[in-house]
Amino acid sequence: MNASLCTDPFGAGSSSEAVPADAVRLTGDLGDGPLRVVLLGTAAGPYPAPGRQGAATAVVVGDRVYLVDAGYGALRKYAQAGLALRDLGGVFVTHLHSDHVADLFNLLLLGWGPANRGVDHQVRIVGPGPDPRDSSAGTAGLVEHGLSAFGQDIGVRTRTSPRTHLAKLVQAEDVSVESTPTPVYEDDRIRVLAAAVPHPPLHLALGFRIETEHGAVAFSGDTARSRVVAELAASADILVHEVMDPTYYRDLGYSPELLDFLAASHTSPQEVGQVAAEAGVECVALSHIGPPDPRAVTDDDWERPVRAGFRGRIVVGHDLTRILPTRS
Ligand SMILES: [Zn+2]
Repeated sequence: MNASLCTDPFGAGSSSEAVPADAVRLTGDLGDGPLRVVLLGTAAGPYPAPGRQGAATAVVVGDRVYLVDAGYGALRKYAQAGLALRDLGGVFVTHLHSDHVADLFNLLLLGWGPANRGVDHQVRIVGPGPDPRDSSAGTAGLVEHGLSAFGQDIGVRTRTSPRTHLAKLVQAEDVSVESTPTPVYEDDRIRVLAAAVPHPPLHLALGFRIETEHGAVAFSGDTARSRVVAELAASADILVHEVMDPTYYRDLGYSPELLDFLAASHTSPQEVGQVAAEAGVECVALSHIGPPDPRAVTDDDWERPVRAGFRGRIVVGHDLTRILPTRS
């Protein structure tokens, strides 16, 4: 299938040109289909770059929305995608690097309450637990500290408007899994499996597989090339995979040590193609793209090395790219 059919960030025809700057057009209606994936933010790394914002993806199952990661800009992109926080079913955090969680608490703090279709129900947040090496906070700790840090605001808003205290609406859960896909969440719409992927020096980074009755969507999280991702994504409809172009960073003058570090914790486009083929997925979507600036590496230059190893559908992600599984 021609990848351009599914790379238009606004779902309005083909787009082979890189998006030159931050997307600002509203998408509103996401279209039909019982299972939709919206790449809200597609940038790698914490430093704000033009053209792409922080890592976040929405998996929309009917009228329920699930988020995987909430990097900077996630809340804004969520709104731009026409999604309502009232429909947020859960959040799955791959790991606790800032480029994946910078907007996690903002999502709740700024999108809380019955006004403006905000969060008015309990939302589960599932992610890695504390680092045992230094006892730094895990996912539950991150949320707990956020509730404390913004206690004045939350208290005032609870007293002056008809809403439930935010602490009662958030249920954050730490998970600890190894490299075997393990169920970590289930509700009436989805079942989620997680497995540890190699993203050193973090003690735990997760990949996810979200299963629905309309298809399965897998997420590599941040990872070096890994058979664990291929296992999580086995025969999935869509694999959202991180990607980093080592050539770009080499040409930028990175030291051999730094290049080795990047290679040990991220995946090249050639390797993404190999993992997608090994998994036998229908579609692989590149997200968490490094370098994030679309002018630095063109869509064609991202796609070509992936295509060398994978014959299926390839989506070069941009913020607000919408992907529908072929069979849905
Ligand atoms: Zn990252």
